[in-house]
Formats: sequence, structure tokens, C-alpha cells
Amino acid sequence: MVHFVGAGSGAADLITVRGAKLLGEADVVIYAGSLVNPELLEYVREGCEVHNSAEMTLEQVLDVVKAAEAAGKTTVRLHTGDSSIYGAVREQFDQLEKLGVAYDVCPGVSSFCGAAAALRAEYTLPDVSQTVIITRAAGRTPVPERESIRSLAAHQATMVLFLSTSLAKKLQEDLLAGGYAPDTPAAVVYKATWPEEKAFRCTVETLAQTVEENGLTKTALLIVGGCLGEEYLRSKLYDPEFTTEFRKGSEA
Ligand code: SAH
Repeated sequence: MVHFVGAGSGAADLITVRGAKLLGEADVVIYAGSLVNPELLEYVREGCEVHNSAEMTLEQVLDVVKAAEAAGKTTVRLHTGDSSIYGAVREQFDQLEKLGVAYDVCPGVSSFCGAAAALRAEYTLPDVSQTVIITRAAGRTPVPERESIRSLAAHQATMVLFLSTSLAKKLQEDLLAGGYAPDTPAAVVYKATWPEEKAFRCTVETLAQTVEENGLTKTALLIVGGCLGEEYLRSKLYDPEFTTEFRKGSEA
């Protein structure tokens, strides 16, 4: 059995209770060493076999799983944040299906949630944006042309950019060309929820400069949108006049 576990965005105590339990019971752990906080390895039991996938290919990961299965062992594949976001898990799932290996998935706190916490932000503010676009700038991994930053920028929704810090200059140009006003609020969050977390607020126009001046090369998210500004409408849900399934409003 292989459990894919989301490690959370950084702080070791942000793993879920279920994830920590699975980690504590595993015979074999394969963790994404480039981003998973090594403190999480303190949850593994003594004698557990630990592999760092940052130094491995997909084939090598599968070889470890196959050996574990043959020995009747349980494996935890520990991914940073939540494994559904840029986790390269689908290719593992499909290979495990082919091998007839059972697996399941335990979700984690993605770094885009960690970044919102660092900024004390709400991504979906009434009258500002009700949509969060999670995307990345095209780098060595291509992005389909129909999802170009320019075309997504036209919505002026809240946008969270993964894997894009080193491409901030081009990104800024595309965000502006696509439709965000130069003074649209933006932020760069480095190592959200890690002890060394840093959050920098800026605007779309100063995004690349903020990245450069602070020497942020990786493990950072770029966040763009009016939700980081001051204007919004209060929610209907907690409006005294508004009736919900659970509460009668004064207007009704
Ligand atoms: N599955 C992960 C994302 C993996 S892709 C998740 O759900 O968060 C790796 C990218 O995620 C990094 O290049 C960076 O852009 C972002 N990232 C991961 N952890 C981060 C953190 N703690 N703070 C800011 N960005 C982070």
C-alpha cells in the first residue's frame, strides 16, 4: 500500500493529523527533499527506510515502491503542500495502477493557503474577485498557449503564481499587457509558514523589482489582485438583513 501524503506548506505541525499518523506508521518514506521540511522526518518511526526523491527519477521511486510491496511493507510518498498542485503524482498513480499496487491520497495544506495566512488575505472578496487562478509562468515546463498569463490576466481575478519567481520580469510585463492596472496590489511570499517566512507587499508594477531586491530565487509565490487592496463589500452571509438556511434576516 502506498499513501500519498501532503506534507503541508512548511511548518512541520501543519501536516494533517491523518498524514502524521500515516507517516508514523510507514515502513518506507519517500519524501520530496527539495521542499518538504526535514523536521517532518521526526514523525517517522525508528527503523523506517527514508528516501529523498529530489535525487531520484520516477523509475527509481517506483523501484523503491516495488521492493517495499514485495516485502509487504507500507510506503508513504510525502509531497510538499498538497500533492494535487504541481505534485507530479498522476504519473505515479498511473504506474501504480499498472503494477496493481493499491494507493490512496491524504490532502495537505497547499502553499497558496500558507501564503494567504502569511498575508492575512482572503482571496475571494465580494465585489473584488470570486475566482482564484492558480497558474505558473511558462518555463522549462510549457504552459498551453490558451492559458497564457496575458489571457488569464484579462479576468483581473486573484492570481497565485507558483514556480515563477525566476521569471518575474517577463511575468510582470505579461500581467500588465493582459489587463491588470500597474497599481494592482501584489505580494511575494517566501517560504510561507516556515520559520524563515517573509512576505513582501508591492504592486504589479513593482513585482519584479521586489523579487530582485530581496534576492528571492525560489520557494516563493507571487500573488496578484485587488483582494490584497482595501476596497471590498461585506459578505451577504453575515449581513443582518440577509436570510440564510440557518438564520432569519431582519428584511424577511
Ligand atoms: N504541491 C505544492 C507546490 C509544489 S510546486 C503546494 O501545494 O504548495 C513548488 C512551488 O511551490 C515552489 O516553486 C513555490 O513556488 C511554491 N511553494 C512551495 N512551498 C512554498 C512555501 N512554503 N512558500 C511559498 N511558496 C512555496
